[in-house]
Parts: sequence; structure tokens; C-alpha cells
Amino acid sequence: MKETIQNIKGTKDILPKESYLWLYIENYIHNHFSKFGYQEIRTPSFEKTDLFLRSIGQETDIVSKEMYSWIDQGNNKLTLRPELTASVVRSYIQHQMGKQNKLHKLYYLGSSYRRERPQKGRFRQFKQFGLEAFGSSLPEQDAEIIYMAYSLYKSLQIKNLRLKINSIGNRNSRKQYKIELQKYFTKFKNELTEASQKRLKINPLRILDTKVDFEVELVKNAPKIIDYLDLDDQKHLESVLYFLKDMNVPYILDPYLVRGLDYYSRTVFEIQTNTLGAQSALCGGGRYDYLVKDLGGQDTPAIGFAAGLERLIMALDMDIGNKNPDIYIVSIGDSALSYSFNLANSLREKDLIVLTETIGRSLKSQMKDANRLNASHVIIIGDDEIKSQMASVKNMTTGHQEDVSLSKIIDYF
Ligand code: AMP
Repeated sequence: MKETIQNIKGTKDILPKESYLWLYIENYIHNHFSKFGYQEIRTPSFEKTDLFLRSIGQETDIVSKEMYSWIDQGNNKLTLRPELTASVVRSYIQHQMGKQNKLHKLYYLGSSYRRERPQKGRFRQFKQFGLEAFGSSLPEQDAEIIYMAYSLYKSLQIKNLRLKINSIGNRNSRKQYKIELQKYFTKFKNELTEASQKRLKINPLRILDTKVDFEVELVKNAPKIIDYLDLDDQKHLESVLYFLKDMNVPYILDPYLVRGLDYYSRTVFEIQTNTLGAQSALCGGGRYDYLVKDLGGQDTPAIGFAAGLERLIMALDMDIGNKNPDIYIVSIGDSALSYSFNLANSLREKDLIVLTETIGRSLKSQMKDANRLNASHVIIIGDDEIKSQMASVKNMTTGHQEDVSLSKIIDYF
């Protein structure tokens, strides 16, 4: 026997037992976002590596160690997208969307790739869905985006939702805060992990994101960004919170919430549930008012979020099996077989799910298969039935069986 090939660690097959639920949820997401007037954008799975270096930031975990990058035969540096915001922004700029219309509301659903250590809820290929709203700097835009995320999970009855929100200010107000953070953590420099020592120099905000126990303790007494926000930042945050309260969205103001990507400003948020174990984040996002300009576009405020589809499906308390066949046509003999193909095609035009025999089984085995698949009805056709132009139709739920004229059988269903 030859050695078999297995899938790559951190990727997974979605087998038919599960795929119907995936399709259902994907449709649900399309529907939910469409209700708010957001339109779908699809971008390629790979981009120039530079796009991610310039947007996500060199010092982030994603860029420094998790990207799948390679040089192709034409010497181009390419990367499988580790997230979709950068690609959507690239596309927004490239197609000059800002010139067509001041406000653009987009959503996406597609695979992302990161070479992380696989564990429950953490994969190397995973599906992300998310929103990006370009053009508005106003707090009502933040509130709309957050509401869209929260109401999606709520309507799917995900339990124990926690919405955490914070403001990380604009670039100016953050400058002073960074200095204060550096001062604070420098006092404990020798106790910090190597990763945090590196962050201390370049981006001390990222230390707030630590999962290491003694650093978590240090963070509890660190300066809070909220004390360094300027008046406009403060007003913005207050208005976002006002809208959320007004729409009955419960939130936790978390002064130490920061996000793992460099491009955020002002509002940042995360929605968590405690049903997922260590990987509790269902989605995360925030404002990125500088990114469009940083990537060469016009100065355009924007806000969005990204969510993991695997984690949503894991958190769901829902089990939908695949659709059962409406009709299973059992055929015996050559002319019955070809008759059954044409009959099945006509019935499918009525949107019925119809199965025909393609592996030459006996009457008994075909009936057994119809039972296994939970078919609602079975039509039995043999060469005799073709001659008499009558077929036997069995209702598999009631067990009732009757003869039906072949000329009337389509109307019968
Ligand atoms: P991020 O872009 O890191 O903020 O991630 C946004 C969301 O994508 C997270 O809240 C997760 O739900 C999901 N996510 C991120 N990384 C992974 C991963 N490696 N595996 C599965 N889901 C992920």
C-alpha cells in the first residue's frame, strides 16, 4: 500500500455532515449585512507582500512570524492574505471608490492564512467575514459597525457575549501615552519577556495584550490611555457609547484593550464569548483613520471589524443536517434506468432533490439506500413498469404505496 497524503496541520476539511451548516451561516451573514445596505467585495487570496508590511505593521506577530510568503517564478514577493482589511483598502484606493461616492459600506467573506500554532479555535487557514465603512469619521458610523457585529451574534443566540470597547486615541494623543507606558514598563524591564522587551522600544501598547501571568499583573497598574485622550477623542468615545446604550447594546469599557494590528486609531472593540476556551475572541475591529492615506489613497476615515467563521460555528448551538432527498428513484433494468434519468431531471425542475441509481444495485439495496438517506418518497420503475406506463410510489414516512401513471407522476409531486 502506498503512503497516503494528509491535510496540512492547522487546516481542516469540512465534510458534508457539517458543510450544510456552513452554507446556512454564510447565507445568514450575507443576509444580515445586506439589511444594513452593505455590499460584498471579493478580493484575491494573495497580494504583494508589501501591502501587508505597510498596513499591518512590521512589529506585529502576523508580519514578523506568521505570513505565508514566497517569491514566485517572476521574482515577485507575494503573500497569502493573513486578513482582508489591507486587501479591501488596496482595492478601495485602486478603484478610486472615494471619488465615486463619499461613503462606501462593504463586507467580505473569505479565507485568511496565518502560520500560528494550531489549537482549538486557531487554524492556519480560517475563514473571516467582516465589514469596512469608508468615508465617515463620525461616532454613529462606529456605532453602526459595532451594532452589526453584536446583533449578528445575538440573533444567532450565541451565549455569554461580552463586548469590550476602548479608544486608543489619535496619533498625537497616543504619542504622550506611549511615552508614559514606556516609563512605566521600563521600571520592570528585566522581568519582562523577551517579546515584551522588544515591544517596549517599538510599540509598548502591544504589551497590554500580553497573556503571560506576571505581565498581566503589571498591566493592571499601567497608565490608562483614557487619561491621555484629547477632547475630540473623548467626545467621540462618549458618543459611540451613547449610541450603543441607546440601542441596548451592553458593553464593557476596557481601558487596556488594544488590538494586535498597528493601523487602528480611536475606537477599538472586541466581542468575546466564554464558550470557546482560550480563543475567546469572536471578532475584533476598530477605526483606522490613517490607513487609506498611509497606503497612498486620499485622506479617508474608516472603521471595520473582522470575525472568524470557525469560531462562530463552534460557538453555535445549532445542528442542521444536510437536506434529505425528496425522491429516490429505484430503477431495475436498462430502459428503466434511462427513463429514470429523464424523469429525475424533470422533477428537479420543480426544485425537488431527486436521486437516481448509478452503481447498478439490486432493488433491495436501492430501497435500503433510500432508507439510509431518509428520502421522503421512492419511485420504483422496472422494465415492466415502462411497458405498463405505471410506477409504484412509496411514501417513506407513512409506508403507503400506490401505483401512479407515468404521464401523471410529475404532477403527483
Ligand atoms: P484579527 O484579525 O487577529 O483581529 O482576527 C479577527 C478574528 O478572526 C478573531 O477575532 C478570530 O475570530 C478570527 N481569527 C483570527 N486568527 C484566527 C485563527 N488563526 N484561526 C481561527 N480564527 C482566527
